[in-house]
Amino acid sequence: MNVADEITLRVSEIQRFCMHDGPGVRTTVFLKGCPMRCLWCHNSEMQKTEKELLFFKNKCIGCRLCASCKNGVHTFKYGHKIDREKCLLCGECEKNCPSSALLICGRDMSIDEIIREVKKDAAFYGQTGGVTLSGGEPFAQPGVTELLKRLKAEGINTAVETCGYYDVTDAVPYTDLFLWDIKDTDEARHKKNTGCRNKPVIDDLFAADKAGAKIRLRCILVNGVNTDETHYKNVAALMKKLRNCVGADILPYHAYGGSKAELTGREDNGDKALIPTEEQINRFKEMIKN
Ligand code: SF4
Ligand code: SF4
Repeated sequence: MNVADEITLRVSEIQRFCMHDGPGVRTTVFLKGCPMRCLWCHNSEMQKTEKELLFFKNKCIGCRLCASCKNGVHTFKYGHKIDREKCLLCGECEKNCPSSALLICGRDMSIDEIIREVKKDAAFYGQTGGVTLSGGEPFAQPGVTELLKRLKAEGINTAVETCGYYDVTDAVPYTDLFLWDIKDTDEARHKKNTGCRNKPVIDDLFAADKAGAKIRLRCILVNGVNTDETHYKNVAALMKKLRNCVGADILPYHAYGGSKAELTGREDNGDKALIPTEEQINRFKEMIKN
Protein backbone atom coordinates (compact mmCIF):
# COMPACT_ATOMS: atom_id res chain seq x y z
CA MET A 1 0.00 0.00 0.00
CA ASN A 2 1.43 3.41 -0.92
CA VAL A 3 0.99 6.71 0.98
CA ALA A 4 -1.73 7.94 -1.36
CA ASP A 5 -3.91 4.89 -0.54
CA GLU A 6 -3.97 5.85 3.12
CA ILE A 7 -4.83 9.53 2.71
CA THR A 8 -8.47 10.53 2.62
CA LEU A 9 -9.81 13.94 1.71
CA ARG A 10 -13.23 15.29 2.59
CA VAL A 11 -14.92 16.13 -0.70
CA SER A 12 -18.07 18.27 -0.87
CA GLU A 13 -18.72 17.77 -4.53
CA ILE A 14 -17.14 16.80 -7.83
CA GLN A 15 -18.39 18.92 -10.72
CA ARG A 16 -17.82 17.87 -14.30
CA PHE A 17 -17.35 19.90 -17.48
CA CYS A 18 -16.50 23.17 -15.72
CA MET A 19 -15.50 26.04 -18.01
CA HIS A 20 -14.66 28.76 -15.47
CA ASP A 21 -12.24 27.09 -13.07
CA GLY A 22 -9.08 27.34 -15.14
CA PRO A 23 -8.21 26.66 -18.78
CA GLY A 24 -10.20 24.29 -20.99
CA VAL A 25 -12.77 21.75 -19.83
CA ARG A 26 -12.16 20.79 -16.22
CA THR A 27 -13.39 18.55 -13.45
CA THR A 28 -13.58 20.55 -10.26
CA VAL A 29 -13.12 18.78 -6.94
CA PHE A 30 -14.55 20.86 -4.10
CA LEU A 31 -12.94 20.16 -0.75
CA LYS A 32 -14.51 20.94 2.58
CA GLY A 33 -13.09 23.39 5.13
CA CYS A 34 -11.77 26.96 4.97
CA PRO A 35 -10.01 29.24 7.46
CA MET A 36 -11.88 32.30 6.13
CA ARG A 37 -15.47 33.44 6.64
CA CYS A 38 -15.91 35.93 3.84
CA LEU A 39 -18.87 38.25 3.91
CA TRP A 40 -19.46 37.41 0.22
CA CYS A 41 -18.85 33.64 0.40
CA HIS A 42 -20.76 31.82 -2.34
CA ASN A 43 -19.92 28.31 -1.10
CA SER A 44 -20.73 28.62 2.58
CA GLU A 45 -21.69 24.93 2.81
CA MET A 46 -17.98 24.23 2.27
CA GLN A 47 -16.68 26.47 5.07
CA LYS A 48 -16.79 23.89 7.87
CA THR A 49 -14.50 20.87 7.76
CA GLU A 50 -17.22 18.77 9.41
CA LYS A 51 -19.88 16.98 7.39
CA GLU A 52 -23.24 18.79 7.23
CA LEU A 53 -26.81 17.98 6.28
CA LEU A 54 -27.97 20.14 3.35
CA PHE A 55 -31.62 20.80 2.56
CA PHE A 56 -32.57 21.92 -0.96
CA LYS A 57 -35.93 23.52 -0.25
CA ASN A 58 -36.77 23.92 -3.95
CA LYS A 59 -36.54 20.15 -4.52
CA CYS A 60 -38.71 19.13 -1.57
CA ILE A 61 -42.11 17.68 -2.52
CA GLY A 62 -43.37 17.63 1.08
CA CYS A 63 -43.80 13.85 1.32
CA ARG A 64 -42.59 13.84 4.97
CA LEU A 65 -40.69 10.56 4.59
CA CYS A 66 -37.78 12.20 6.40
CA ALA A 67 -39.95 12.51 9.53
CA SER A 68 -39.03 8.87 10.23
CA CYS A 69 -35.61 10.08 11.45
CA LYS A 70 -35.08 8.34 14.80
CA ASN A 71 -33.52 11.48 16.26
CA GLY A 72 -36.48 13.73 15.52
CA VAL A 73 -34.46 16.07 13.31
CA HIS A 74 -37.26 16.67 10.79
CA THR A 75 -40.55 17.98 12.21
CA PHE A 76 -43.58 19.35 10.37
CA LYS A 77 -45.79 20.92 13.03
CA TYR A 78 -44.90 24.47 11.91
CA GLY A 79 -43.65 23.78 8.40
CA HIS A 80 -40.59 21.63 7.70
CA LYS A 81 -38.14 22.35 10.54
CA ILE A 82 -34.70 20.73 10.69
CA ASP A 83 -32.97 20.55 14.06
CA ARG A 84 -29.37 20.02 12.90
CA GLU A 85 -28.11 19.92 16.49
CA LYS A 86 -29.78 16.51 16.85
CA CYS A 87 -28.53 15.16 13.52
CA LEU A 88 -26.04 12.28 13.68
CA LEU A 89 -25.41 12.45 9.92
CA CYS A 90 -26.39 8.81 9.52
CA GLY A 91 -27.68 9.51 5.98
CA GLU A 92 -31.01 7.68 6.42
CA CYS A 93 -33.14 10.66 5.41
CA GLU A 94 -30.88 11.34 2.44
CA LYS A 95 -31.43 7.75 1.31
CA ASN A 96 -35.21 7.90 1.82
CA CYS A 97 -35.87 11.28 0.24
CA PRO A 98 -37.51 10.64 -3.17
CA SER A 99 -36.50 14.00 -4.64
CA SER A 100 -32.88 14.31 -3.52
CA ALA A 101 -33.74 17.32 -1.38
CA LEU A 102 -31.43 16.12 1.40
CA LEU A 103 -27.72 15.60 1.10
CA ILE A 104 -24.89 14.89 3.50
CA CYS A 105 -22.20 17.30 2.34
CA GLY A 106 -18.73 15.85 2.89
CA ARG A 107 -17.64 12.44 1.65
CA ASP A 108 -14.31 11.02 2.71
CA MET A 109 -12.55 9.74 -0.39
CA SER A 110 -9.13 8.21 -0.77
CA ILE A 111 -6.78 9.73 -3.32
CA ASP A 112 -7.22 6.62 -5.46
CA GLU A 113 -10.99 7.05 -5.42
CA ILE A 114 -10.72 10.72 -6.43
CA ILE A 115 -8.32 9.86 -9.24
CA ARG A 116 -10.63 7.11 -10.50
CA GLU A 117 -13.55 9.52 -10.46
CA VAL A 118 -11.84 12.39 -12.31
CA LYS A 119 -10.27 10.08 -14.88
CA LYS A 120 -13.76 9.27 -16.14
CA ASP A 121 -13.67 12.76 -17.73
CA ALA A 122 -10.12 12.55 -19.08
CA ALA A 123 -11.31 12.18 -22.68
CA PHE A 124 -12.73 15.72 -22.52
CA TYR A 125 -9.65 17.48 -21.15
CA GLY A 126 -7.86 17.86 -24.50
CA GLN A 127 -4.64 19.91 -24.55
CA THR A 128 -5.61 22.51 -21.94
CA GLY A 129 -8.23 21.04 -19.59
CA GLY A 130 -7.74 18.98 -16.46
CA VAL A 131 -8.61 18.99 -12.78
CA THR A 132 -9.13 21.99 -10.51
CA LEU A 133 -9.17 21.72 -6.74
CA SER A 134 -11.48 24.22 -5.09
CA GLY A 135 -13.56 24.56 -1.97
CA GLY A 136 -13.50 25.75 0.70
CA GLU A 137 -9.78 26.08 0.78
CA PRO A 138 -8.10 22.95 -0.63
CA PHE A 139 -4.90 23.44 1.35
CA ALA A 140 -6.87 23.44 4.62
CA GLN A 141 -6.74 19.63 4.28
CA PRO A 142 -3.42 17.86 4.67
CA GLY A 143 -2.95 15.49 1.77
CA VAL A 144 -3.84 17.92 -1.00
CA THR A 145 -0.23 18.14 -2.19
CA GLU A 146 -0.17 14.33 -2.42
CA LEU A 147 -3.34 14.43 -4.53
CA LEU A 148 -1.76 16.99 -6.87
CA LYS A 149 1.35 14.84 -7.11
CA ARG A 150 -0.74 11.82 -8.10
CA LEU A 151 -2.75 13.80 -10.64
CA LYS A 152 0.48 14.99 -12.27
CA ALA A 153 1.81 11.43 -12.29
CA GLU A 154 -1.34 10.48 -14.23
CA GLY A 155 -0.49 13.20 -16.76
CA ILE A 156 -3.44 15.38 -15.73
CA ASN A 157 -3.20 19.18 -15.84
CA THR A 158 -3.78 20.64 -12.36
CA ALA A 159 -5.08 23.95 -11.06
CA VAL A 160 -5.93 25.05 -7.53
CA GLU A 161 -8.27 27.83 -6.46
CA THR A 162 -6.85 29.12 -3.21
CA CYS A 163 -7.53 31.84 -0.66
CA GLY A 164 -3.76 31.93 -0.17
CA TYR A 165 -3.79 31.46 3.57
CA TYR A 166 -1.33 28.54 3.59
CA ASP A 167 2.25 28.09 2.46
CA VAL A 168 1.90 26.17 -0.82
CA THR A 169 5.52 26.02 -1.93
CA ASP A 170 5.58 22.20 -1.56
CA ALA A 171 2.72 21.97 -4.05
CA VAL A 172 4.27 24.24 -6.69
CA PRO A 173 6.01 21.44 -8.68
CA TYR A 174 2.68 19.60 -9.05
CA THR A 175 0.39 22.56 -9.79
CA ASP A 176 0.14 23.94 -13.32
CA LEU A 177 -1.82 27.01 -12.27
CA PHE A 178 -2.74 28.72 -9.02
CA LEU A 179 -5.94 30.76 -9.13
CA TRP A 180 -5.09 33.03 -6.23
CA ASP A 181 -7.78 35.07 -4.45
CA ILE A 182 -6.99 38.66 -3.67
CA LYS A 183 -9.94 39.64 -1.55
CA ASP A 184 -8.78 42.98 -0.25
CA THR A 185 -5.40 44.69 0.00
CA ASP A 186 -6.48 46.73 3.01
CA GLU A 187 -5.37 44.80 6.10
CA ALA A 188 -8.11 46.04 8.46
CA ARG A 189 -10.92 45.48 5.96
CA HIS A 190 -9.57 42.04 5.05
CA LYS A 191 -9.64 41.01 8.71
CA LYS A 192 -13.10 42.46 9.23
CA ASN A 193 -14.69 40.88 6.14
CA THR A 194 -12.94 37.51 6.00
CA GLY A 195 -11.98 36.88 9.63
CA CYS A 196 -8.32 36.44 8.60
CA ARG A 197 -5.33 38.70 8.07
CA ASN A 198 -4.18 39.64 4.59
CA LYS A 199 -0.44 39.57 5.30
CA PRO A 200 -0.09 35.75 5.21
CA VAL A 201 -1.95 35.73 1.86
CA ILE A 202 0.52 38.18 0.34
CA ASP A 203 3.56 36.52 1.94
CA ASP A 204 2.45 33.10 0.63
CA LEU A 205 1.77 34.60 -2.80
CA PHE A 206 5.33 35.88 -3.12
CA ALA A 207 6.79 32.66 -1.69
CA ALA A 208 4.86 30.66 -4.32
CA ASP A 209 5.94 33.08 -7.04
CA LYS A 210 9.57 32.76 -5.97
CA ALA A 211 9.22 28.96 -6.10
CA GLY A 212 8.13 29.29 -9.75
CA ALA A 213 4.35 28.99 -9.42
CA LYS A 214 2.28 30.14 -12.37
CA ILE A 215 -0.33 32.41 -10.86
CA ARG A 216 -3.54 34.04 -11.99
CA LEU A 217 -5.09 36.47 -9.52
CA ARG A 218 -8.80 36.31 -8.78
CA CYS A 219 -10.05 39.64 -7.53
CA ILE A 220 -13.45 39.68 -5.92
CA LEU A 221 -15.08 43.07 -6.28
CA VAL A 222 -17.64 44.07 -3.65
CA ASN A 223 -19.42 47.39 -3.87
CA GLY A 224 -18.62 49.68 -0.96
CA VAL A 225 -16.07 47.24 0.45
CA ASN A 226 -13.08 47.18 -1.93
CA THR A 227 -14.20 49.38 -4.81
CA ASP A 228 -11.72 52.17 -4.11
CA GLU A 229 -8.81 53.38 -6.24
CA THR A 230 -6.21 52.52 -3.57
CA HIS A 231 -7.20 48.86 -3.70
CA TYR A 232 -7.15 48.85 -7.52
CA LYS A 233 -3.68 50.42 -7.47
CA ASN A 234 -2.44 47.90 -4.89
CA VAL A 235 -3.62 44.96 -7.04
CA ALA A 236 -1.96 46.45 -10.13
CA ALA A 237 1.27 46.95 -8.14
CA LEU A 238 1.12 43.34 -6.90
CA MET A 239 0.78 42.06 -10.45
CA LYS A 240 3.76 44.10 -11.53
CA LYS A 241 5.95 42.70 -8.76
CA LEU A 242 5.08 39.04 -9.41
CA ARG A 243 7.43 37.22 -11.75
CA ASN A 244 5.02 34.53 -12.93
CA CYS A 245 1.64 36.22 -12.91
CA VAL A 246 -0.24 35.38 -16.09
CA GLY A 247 -3.21 37.68 -15.53
CA ALA A 248 -6.10 38.57 -13.30
CA ASP A 249 -9.82 37.88 -13.31
CA ILE A 250 -12.36 40.18 -11.77
CA LEU A 251 -15.11 38.37 -9.92
CA PRO A 252 -17.99 40.75 -9.27
CA TYR A 253 -19.97 39.92 -6.11
CA HIS A 254 -23.28 38.22 -6.81
CA ALA A 255 -26.08 37.77 -4.32
CA TYR A 256 -26.83 34.15 -5.34
CA GLY A 257 -24.22 32.80 -2.91
CA GLY A 258 -26.26 34.19 -0.03
CA SER A 259 -29.18 31.93 -0.83
CA LYS A 260 -26.86 28.89 -0.67
CA ALA A 261 -26.38 29.68 3.01
CA GLU A 262 -29.93 28.43 3.51
CA LEU A 263 -28.84 24.90 2.56
CA THR A 264 -27.16 24.59 5.94
CA GLY A 265 -29.91 26.39 7.86
CA ARG A 266 -28.15 29.77 7.94
CA GLU A 267 -29.85 32.94 6.86
CA ASP A 268 -29.72 34.11 3.25
CA ASN A 269 -27.09 36.83 3.53
CA GLY A 270 -27.04 37.80 -0.15
CA ASP A 271 -27.11 41.58 -0.44
CA LYS A 272 -27.77 43.15 -3.84
CA ALA A 273 -26.30 46.45 -2.60
CA LEU A 274 -22.88 44.75 -2.65
CA ILE A 275 -23.00 44.08 -6.41
CA PRO A 276 -20.45 46.39 -8.07
CA THR A 277 -21.50 48.76 -10.84
CA GLU A 278 -20.31 48.40 -14.46
CA GLU A 279 -18.34 51.59 -13.93
CA GLN A 280 -16.48 50.14 -10.92
CA ILE A 281 -15.70 46.94 -12.83
CA ASN A 282 -14.45 48.84 -15.87
CA ARG A 283 -12.30 51.16 -13.77
CA PHE A 284 -10.67 48.17 -12.06
CA LYS A 285 -10.06 46.50 -15.44
CA GLU A 286 -8.54 49.69 -16.80
CA MET A 287 -6.17 50.07 -13.83
CA ILE A 288 -5.02 46.46 -14.15
CA LYS A 289 -4.51 46.77 -17.89
CA ASN A 290 -2.47 49.91 -17.50
S1 SF4 B 1 -38.24 13.23 2.38
FE1 SF4 B 1 -37.35 14.78 1.01
S2 SF4 B 1 -39.05 15.44 -0.30
FE2 SF4 B 1 -39.94 14.34 1.45
S3 SF4 B 1 -40.38 16.00 2.93
FE3 SF4 B 1 -38.37 15.19 3.45
S4 SF4 B 1 -36.97 16.54 2.33
FE4 SF4 B 1 -38.97 16.84 1.43
S1 SF4 C 1 -28.96 12.17 8.65
FE1 SF4 C 1 -29.82 10.62 10.04
S2 SF4 C 1 -29.91 11.64 12.04
FE2 SF4 C 1 -29.62 13.22 10.47
S3 SF4 C 1 -31.66 13.91 9.96
FE3 SF4 C 1 -31.14 12.34 8.48
S4 SF4 C 1 -31.95 10.44 9.38
FE4 SF4 C 1 -31.88 11.93 11.03
